[in-house]
Amino acid sequence: MTPKSLAAALTTGALVLSGLTVTTASAHHPPAPTPKVPTAVGYGGAVASVDADATNIGLSVLRRGGNAVDAAVATAAALGVTEPYSAGIGGGGYFVYYNAKSRKVYTIDGRETAPATMPSDAFINPATGKPYTFFPDLVTSGVSVGIPGTLATWDSALKSWGSLSLGKALQPAADLAKHGFVIDQTFRNQTLDNKVRFSAIVPTANLYLPGGDAPVVGSVFRNKDLAKTYELLGRKGTSAFYNGPIAHEIESVVKTPPKAPGTTLPVMPGYLSTADLAKYKVIKRDPTKVHYEGLDVYGMAPSSSGGTTVGEALNILAPQHLSQLPDAQRLHMYLEASALAFADRGAYVGDPAYVDVPTKELLSKGFGAERSCLIDPAHAAVKPVKAGSPDGSYQPCTAGVASADRPDTEGLSTTHLVTADKWGNVVSYTLTIEQTGGSGILVPGRGFLLNNELTDFSAVYDPADPNRIQPGKRPRSSMSPTIVLRHGKPFLALGSPGGSTIITTVLQVLTNRLDRDMTLPEAIADPRASQRNTANVSAEPPFIVKYGSALTPYGHTLIKSGDELTSAAEIGAVAALEFLPGGRYLAAAEPTRRGGGAAGTVWPR
Ligand code: GLU
Repeated sequence: MTPKSLAAALTTGALVLSGLTVTTASAHHPPAPTPKVPTAVGYGGAVASVDADATNIGLSVLRRGGNAVDAAVATAAALGVTEPYSAGIGGGGYFVYYNAKSRKVYTIDGRETAPATMPSDAFINPATGKPYTFFPDLVTSGVSVGIPGTLATWDSALKSWGSLSLGKALQPAADLAKHGFVIDQTFRNQTLDNKVRFSAIVPTANLYLPGGDAPVVGSVFRNKDLAKTYELLGRKGTSAFYNGPIAHEIESVVKTPPKAPGTTLPVMPGYLSTADLAKYKVIKRDPTKVHYEGLDVYGMAPSSSGGTTVGEALNILAPQHLSQLPDAQRLHMYLEASALAFADRGAYVGDPAYVDVPTKELLSKGFGAERSCLIDPAHAAVKPVKAGSPDGSYQPCTAGVASADRPDTEGLSTTHLVTADKWGNVVSYTLTIEQTGGSGILVPGRGFLLNNELTDFSAVYDPADPNRIQPGKRPRSSMSPTIVLRHGKPFLALGSPGGSTIITTVLQVLTNRLDRDMTLPEAIADPRASQRNTANVSAEPPFIVKYGSALTPYGHTLIKSGDELTSAAEIGAVAALEFLPGGRYLAAAEPTRRGGGAAGTVWPR
């Protein structure tokens, strides 16, 4: 995740990118990653992301009069350069936007979709009749590549609410790709973690494993192909991608992955075609909304499960009045509410174009109260807990209904950014290519990796499963870009990567900030645990140290996060904003997780 820096014009002492001076490397000093600070307070707008170059580009757009949407697109495009294993035009995401003029929240669903010809047994190996090995075989394959939505999201956001053209918004990132950034340890580690996958695919190995090794820390990494791609898209618009030459190249690389000679990985061909790309559309959806502690919490509606699951959990927690409870009991409630909401997520949430998702009922106070009543204040329930009945008729403590326990295979990559401008517009945007490194398939000559998002469909086909594979469908996501309003005005914006732990991370940071006596940076820094309706709670080691003994009497079994496939050693990587009194902005990112994030304001104080 968190590389780096802009560096590039190393001998000149400074580099000007689209009017922005961005680095200070000189002939006498080796390049160093752009410095980053995790917390910033100031005026005039703010940006937070995982990467300093990306945050600086967003801030430069704001300083030159761009709005929050312009800054979000420019920041995201820069993350496509410096965080290419998490984000980029080969992937998808969810864009949540508060418009200060209309005082409304809007969202764009830019999720990848399944090709029209994807069969329901796509994850079964025809040679054996058994499911493909999930990692590394299925994730490193054309089968897992969905139709990318990120570029269409940027274009739609700019056209709807931005002030810059696509070309202007992409130019700083194109310059960054051309001139390069300084590789840090995280980038090198992520490349090495992917060495087997990347070596299996010729164009990917050529770009990310030059000479057979990952780029070394402190070296300047350039991606000239990506620079040219951004410039082409700036000139020609999205049609070059969805209808033009790039569409043909994507089909070709998915259907005939350029396997390196001698690789042991199968790198199966996939289904995505130019017809699928030509048909792709982002969807503007109503946001989810729940009322919690006097605030309005807005999130992303299905196809993401983020908004419904965070929202339902908050409704479950509301009757428990967390702010009046001691820490251990508060955390017990958080873990139990999360398990209940995850049970309902698994039973009811999928792409609403294919599945009748009871979004309104999942977010109703009545359903939340019915579920809340099931929490034993002294004992953790046996997991998995059953799903509830979001049917519009609610009785306190109605027992749940059994639903299949389906394994979670979501990846752990992704990135989140937040922007706000001087007019009070706010963006909370999570984007991904799914696994760190996506499918591992780089589009030759174009400099970007394709996603493996279709692995977010349930691994085993079950006709009763709302997240079963269906052609044209969006796999269920956990991305949870969130904006919180107080009296109709922005108060918080936040989100995180982390697969299904995104949901618990956003929920935990929200309750830390709203129900405990924590500032936003403290709420982010506090150690995390994630209960997703499984027997054990994944917990960061510092969480076990800090809260483990207090939670054990409730019967929670905490296991070190990262010990199972679906959580990383560090849970999440939050980027957030808070709107302070007096027109000040607090931008906050991770102090240490994943190498720390980068926060900045337009006019720092
Ligand atoms: N594919 C995941 C989702 O859509 C995100 C992966 C991640 O956060 O690492 O929820």
